[in-house]
Order: sequence, then C-alpha cells, then structure tokens
Amino acid sequence: MTTKTDSQSALAHLAYCQQHQAEMMTLLRRMVEIESPSDDKAAVDRMGAFLAREFERLGGTVTSYPQKNAGNHLKAEFAAGAGKPALLLGHFDTVWSMGTLATMPFRVDNGRAFGPGVYDMKAGITMMIFALRALQAGGNQRRPVTVLLDTDEEVGSVTGRPVVEATARECEAVFVLEPSQGPKGHLKTSRKGVGNITIRVRGRASHSGVDFEKGRSAIVELARQLLEIVKFTDLSRGITVNPGVIHGGTRSNVIAAEAWAEVDLRIDRAADAAALEQKFAALKPFDPDCSIEITGGINRPPMERTEATVHLFEMAREIAGWIGLPLEESATGGGSDGNFTSALGVPTLDGLGALGEGAHASHESIVIEDLPRRTALIAGLLQTL
Ligand SMILES: [Zn+2]
Repeated sequence: MTTKTDSQSALAHLAYCQQHQAEMMTLLRRMVEIESPSDDKAAVDRMGAFLAREFERLGGTVTSYPQKNAGNHLKAEFAAGAGKPALLLGHFDTVWSMGTLATMPFRVDNGRAFGPGVYDMKAGITMMIFALRALQAGGNQRRPVTVLLDTDEEVGSVTGRPVVEATARECEAVFVLEPSQGPKGHLKTSRKGVGNITIRVRGRASHSGVDFEKGRSAIVELARQLLEIVKFTDLSRGITVNPGVIHGGTRSNVIAAEAWAEVDLRIDRAADAAALEQKFAALKPFDPDCSIEITGGINRPPMERTEATVHLFEMAREIAGWIGLPLEESATGGGSDGNFTSALGVPTLDGLGALGEGAHASHESIVIEDLPRRTALIAGLLQTL
C-alpha cells in the first residue's frame, strides 16, 4: 500500500529522473525529429503511432480517435487503485512546417536543447512518459492515470476540444504539460479566454475619377468600425480587442467594394464573453449603403483562478519544495486546452511542462538540467492527488 508523496518518495522520483536524464533526452530528440505540423495529417499520425507504441510499452491501454483532416487524437490509460483518473493533458502537433528540421535541427548547446516543438510541447510529453516510469519504478501509482494528447491544439483544437472535454469530465483533476511561464518557470493558474472575430464590409465599387460619388468605400467604412471596436478594450477588466489583420480593396483608383479585418479578443472572465460578442453583433454601418457581417466569437473560455486550481498549485509547491524546485504561479494571456477543462469545472493546473523559452520562435529551447526536477514533480502530483 503506497501513500501520498512525502519528501522521501519525492526524492526517489527525482533520483530516478536524474538517473534517466540521458534516456529522456534520447526520447525527446526522437520526437523532435518526427516533425508534426498541425496541418499535415500524415506527419502528425506518424508522431501519434510512435507515441502509441511508447505508451503501450509502459502498459497503457491506448485509444485512437480517428480524424479525417486533423491527426488522430490519442488517449492512454493506466489503471491502478480506485477513484477517478488524474489527467495528463497535452498536444503533439507543432506550429512548425515540414522541413523545418533542415534549418532548425535538434541540437544541444550550452545546457539547452533546441529544435521545432522541443518546448511546445514535446518536452512535456517526454516528462509525462518519465513521470509514469518513475511512478511505476517506485510502486507509487495510487489512482488511474489518463494521458490525452490532441493534434490540433495549435490551430484552436477544433476537433480536439470534444475529446478533451469528454475525457476531462471523467477525471479528478487535470495537469497540463504545456511550457512553464517565463525564465523561472512559473506554473499557470489562469489563462485568458480567446476569441476571433472577422468583420466583413461590403460597399460599392466605382471608378475613383469618373464615378466617385457612386462608390461606397468598404475600406472607409471598415476603418470607422475599427475605431469603434477598439473602444471595447477594457484593460481594468482584462478585456482586449486587437484588429491584427486587415484586407481590402483592389487598386488605388477603385473605390473598394470589399474590406475585412481579423480581430483577436481576450477576456479574463467567462462572464464577459456574451456582452463582448453582443457589442460586435450590435455594430451598425455608418454608411447605410454599406453592409457589415460579423463572424466568429470567443472560442476558448478563460481559465479562471479558482480555489480548486489554487489548491492544486499549493500541492505542487509543497512537492516541489522537497526536491529543491522553487515554484510560483502566474497568469498568461495565451490559451491552451486547459481553458476547456477548467471551464467545465474540473480542477486544472497548467504550465507544468518544461522550463525554456521561445515557443513558436526559432530560438525555441528547453533547459536540460531542469527536466528531471519538473518530471519528478509530475510523478509526485500523480501520487498525491
Ligand atoms: Zn502548446
């Protein structure tokens, strides 16, 4: 009969992970070298097949969720004890196109490992595997553990979301192994909600010299609308509205018939979603001869800093203390699948993945020395929950 993590088993997990650090790096390298961009199903499925074998080798029961366009999502279940499972959540798609390895190969330099997807989040998946191994080595698994990895997180989890939500509903708590935050590797106890809205304006084309008065410029109308929507930003409530992309028009001597903008929305509170969407829906054209069409909305609810999340963070901090890992929490404006699980009311702790920097950037890298401690922390959390 095993009990909750104490300092002794935490140190045993740490020792296991340190002894296996070279093996962790070998696995991480293999994963980085199987490129898996979200939009390349065949590539993502190669990564999924590799992971299925790894989880089966650990004694997991693997389920694949076949998808037509996205890669197949993957679940691995590790039975033990009673109670609801702990969920280890992540994704194995990356933002990096096929062939990136040619210019950005896996490499180790100055204590860091570099490569496409190394930090976001193939290191996190490596940590899941070795946390499970450390747990098995110590005979410390007290409750079922489910691993869920989806394949379109980087493009909004359109097909992953229902699988993530259905799985999380059955679980006691969710540990998200997305990258940790900042140079000290803070955990993430809140994330902003994220939305995308497209504003499309239709005006009337005409010759700017011959028929100026007959034209109705979609560009001018859109510009006026943009000045309205930026007023929806309310920094004191954590609401931001950013028109990040605009398109429109054809030539400078043509009154533009069409123009549109892509707008990014962020909110701190779920309660603000409906009111913000309503403001967009209520937009009226300044020029009655123009029409505007609004599509989209909030697609990731915020992960709010609930009491249950704080409780998980405190648990993590205690375990981390035993293995010499100072731990702090922070909020982030970025979204993850943790937003979905948290919005369901399932206690969720995020940012439990690697320490590093440069997610989605060419200097994407992780700190190798830090990997065993954070992996031991995952093992400790699974044992304690
Ligand atoms: Zn990620």
